[in-house]
Formats: sequence, C-alpha cells, structure tokens
Amino acid sequence: FHQDAPRRVAILGATGSIGTSALDVIARHPEQMRASVLAAGNNVDALVALCRSHRPKHAAIADPALFQRLRDGLRDAGLATEAHAGATAIDALAAGDACDTVVAAIVGAAGLSSTLAAARAGKRLLLANKESLVLAGELLTREAAAAGADIIPIDSEHNAIFQCLRSRDASVEGAGVRRILLTASGGPFRGRTRAELEAVTPAQAVAHPKWSMGPKISVDSATLMNKGLEVIEAHHLFGVPGARIDVLVHPQSLVHSLVEFIDGSTLAQLGLPDMRTTLAVGLGWPRRIESGVAGLDLLAQGRLDFEAPDLDAFPCLRLAWQAMEAGGSAPAILNAANEVAVSAFLQGRIGFLSIPALVEHALSALPHMAADTLDALLAADARSRQVTTTAIARLPHA
Ligand code: NAD
Ligand code: MG
Repeated sequence: FHQDAPRRVAILGATGSIGTSALDVIARHPEQMRASVLAAGNNVDALVALCRSHRPKHAAIADPALFQRLRDGLRDAGLATEAHAGATAIDALAAGDACDTVVAAIVGAAGLSSTLAAARAGKRLLLANKESLVLAGELLTREAAAAGADIIPIDSEHNAIFQCLRSRDASVEGAGVRRILLTASGGPFRGRTRAELEAVTPAQAVAHPKWSMGPKISVDSATLMNKGLEVIEAHHLFGVPGARIDVLVHPQSLVHSLVEFIDGSTLAQLGLPDMRTTLAVGLGWPRRIESGVAGLDLLAQGRLDFEAPDLDAFPCLRLAWQAMEAGGSAPAILNAANEVAVSAFLQGRIGFLSIPALVEHALSALPHMAADTLDALLAADARSRQVTTTAIARLPHA
C-alpha cells in the first residue's frame, strides 16, 4: 500500500503476546511502517532482544530501577536506541513526535495513563488494553474524539464489529444497528458446573483452548470476566446500550462477532484465532495488508456451534453487566477487584471461585458514585484494590 512517510509505531507492552504479534506484522512491511518506540513493564532482557531485531529509536522500561540495565544492555548490543524508564517517560513517548501510531497493549489499569496520553495527542490508537475502556471509557472516547485520535479496536470481537460497520464514526443508530452479538470461546472450563470449578489450578486456567494470550486475560477468559469487560468495552466503543449487546458462546472461535441490522441482515467477521489479523487491520486501515495469517478452510473446520453462556457457573459475566448498568465508579471497582483477585489466583493464594466472590464483595462494599473525572475513577480503582486485598487476607486459605 502507498503512503508518503512510513508509519512510525509505538508498541506499549512490546514484550507481551499482543506486542510481539504487532512486531511480527510490522516486520512484514519494512517500506510502509516501523517500530519506533518499544515499551515494557520489567522484562529488560526481552526488551533489549526486541530492540536488536527491530532497532527502534526509543526503548522504555516501566520500572525505574531497571534504567541502567536497559541502557547498558542497549549499549552492549551496539544499538543507537535511546533508553528511558518510568511510567511518565512512557506517557511522554506515547504522546511525542517519535510515533504517529500507538499500539496500547499494556495489561490492566496500568495501561490507562499512556493510552490516554496517546488519545490526547491525536495518535492513531490501536487499542488492545480493554481495561482502560472499562475504567474510563467515557473519558477516553471523549478525549480521543476531541483530539481527533482514531481508535481502532484490537480486541478480536470489537475489531470484528469495527470491520462489519466499516468505521467507529457512524453512530450505531445512524448505521441501522439493531444489536451486537459478541462471541465467546467459553474458555478452558466451558461446560463445567460451579462445583467442578472449585479446585481448578492456575495452570489449567491459563491453558486456553483456542487463543495464546498473556496470563491475566487467559484467567479472565476462564472466568468469563473477559466477556464481561468486553461488553463494557463494546458499549463505549460503539455507543450501544447494554440491552442491545448479546453474548453467544462459540467454541470454535472462528466467528469473531456479529452485527444485526434493522433490515434483518446480520454481518459477521470470520478468521483463524490469531491476533495478527486484527493488528493488520489496525496498522493498514483503511487498506488491507498481509498479516501472515492463513485464510479459513471451512470444509476442514466442519462446523460452527453456538450456545448460551452459563451465568451460574460463571457469575463474572453477570457482575460486569451489573457494573455497566450501575455506571459511575462501578466498572472501575469491578476491574480493579478483578485485577487483584486474578493476580492472587495466579500466585496460588486464592481459589478460582474466590475471583467472582471478591469482585462481588468489592462492588457491594464500596459506594457507587458518579465518576466523570480521572481523579474520581482512579480513587475508585485504588479503594477497590484496598478492599479486595484486605478481603483476601481474611480468606481462610490465604
Ligand atoms: P501480556 O501479559 O502478554 O503482556 C503485557 C505487556 O505489558 C508486557 O509487555 C509487559 O511488560 C507490559 N506491562 C505490564 N505492566 C506494565 C506497566 N506497568 N507499564 C508498562 N508495561 C507494562 O498481555 P497480553 O495478552 O499481550 O495483553 C495485553 C492487553 O491486550 C491486555 O489488556 C489484554 O486484555 C488485551 N488483549 C490481549 C489479547 C491477546 O490475544 N493476548 C486479545 C485481546 C485483548
Ligand atoms: Mg476478545
């Protein structure tokens, strides 16, 4: 495809699952785009290794204590890449002149500040960090619109809807949308009863049947909280009320989501479960570019199945729906409690069923307030982390 200057892409969360998929797509188009900024949390060695292959102008590590190791690592590798450290440095790089496109792929609420910085600077924002939309969806979409930042959703379901609507601009009303159907794989525990989930281990929870992803989102897929976060994400991205969003479990993960229109038409986007497709949509938009992903062989796949989600066994989906309907600070409380609970589960400190229990506890223990400023949202996030940490310490097996 043709473009005057190569697209300069900042990848925030470069060492993660989405980050490395983005780098894979970018490396296929050396004339059209390059990675100019790479940022990660604390894995310095992996970050330096990526800098060796992709030679960005800037590399940043979130943990300030790791600055010297990053600087020395880049120097020993003979690279001209400039070293940076700290969250503020990552925000400045996301907003600065070294990039025109930002892949927001940091995991969790930790990604909000750089995502917001990129939106305020009017960048093309390839948004994978769904937690920032759950925490501050109204603020983020408002600021992006004010600054002329185009948000292209990278989450596969929302990317599918974006492709079906061919933009995010046309309001859902204007586009004649009746409802949105988000598909869910059902995760590794699909079909199990609540009792059968009691003793599942972190290793079983992160072994996703269809997608290879980071540990946090893999656990979210296993609890169905991921789908709950995605309902809230869809609400903010496409301006659809919750009553017009449905969730369909689709174990093959080939239909990535569907849009039903008022004339009875339903459009869907299909493809193999590989995030390089959605990243290529975002990097090339409005053109189609190679992603390295093969096409779909429907004859070999054989069949597409659909079933209703089991809200009894997987109450996180219901909790997310309730938090969205409550609005204000409730989604921020839900998201923060979930992050703390998932991290405790991954460390073997709590059982799987404690995740929904802790989220429900935070939602009922904390007042739901109007929260339209960043400070109010961050305060709700912080209180929810405290309440959940305290509740974990009181659990019998903690
Ligand atoms: P991951 O755990 O594989 O990678 C996370 C990345 O974020 C790493 O590079 C890590 O170093 C970085 N990071 C963590 N904390 C940081 C901090 N405080 N500051 C800077 N960097 C930090 O996670 P992932 O699976 O790539 O997911 C990333 C985001 O994309 C999540 O929000 C997830 O929900 C979303 N997402 C992922 C997928 C997928 O297929 N993996 C699909 C849809 C959405
Ligand atoms: Mg998804």
